[in-house]
Amino acid sequence: MAPEITGPIVQAAVATIRDHAEELTALDQAIGDGDHGLNMKRGFDAVAEGLGGLAGLPLSEALQKVGMTLVMKVGGASGPLYGSLFMAMGKAVAGDPARLDQVAAMLAEGVAAVKKRGKSDAGEKTMLDVLVPVNEALHEAAGRPVALATLVSDLRKAADTGLERTRNMQATKGRASFLRERSVGHLDPGARSSQLLVHAVCGVVEGLGKS
Ligand code: ADP
Ligand code: MG
Repeated sequence: MAPEITGPIVQAAVATIRDHAEELTALDQAIGDGDHGLNMKRGFDAVAEGLGGLAGLPLSEALQKVGMTLVMKVGGASGPLYGSLFMAMGKAVAGDPARLDQVAAMLAEGVAAVKKRGKSDAGEKTMLDVLVPVNEALHEAAGRPVALATLVSDLRKAADTGLERTRNMQATKGRASFLRERSVGHLDPGARSSQLLVHAVCGVVEGLGKS
């Protein structure tokens, strides 16, 4: 991840959250309190407002700033979780962030921070059901020579499959867990926002290969 693509990635993330805010809210109305779209939009709008200040920063600082903004602005359960993801990724920047194995190491730290903060793991009907398989797919790709098109296709597939799996899961963390078996049959809102963010990053990375 070259530092100069930070801006386009942030812009793509903000755009997809804005475009899907109502859908995220509707998903959260079904198994939560109906604020996930609003929470995410408030957080990513704040990130967009601060984009000018991010431009000149090294990737590590930019990611940590995004994380802190999300903690402060998203609120709810997801704010500190997304905040931890980006802050831990920022702290893990080392060496050349354009190298796939470095990006994979960063995401691994980010996902570990979400697990720690949420006291949760994949299989509990949360954002981790997308983040964990995407992290695994990235590590697999980083371990072999891989074309950019294959990489983004693998990551999107991991995110899509992970999201779809949340539908038939019973939630054991977060507000949705209060519903017990009635949480089954609905996609998890945080898994959907994570999948949207993965798609946004993939779209920008894919564009690099074409320019
Ligand atoms: P709140 O639940 O406080 O209203 P949001 O609606 O913004 O917060 O976010 C809900 C999402 O947060 C869930 O759909 C789920 O993906 C995620 N989430 C909640 N608790 C946890 C947890 N302990 N670990 C991981 N993700 C969680
Ligand atoms: Mg909610």
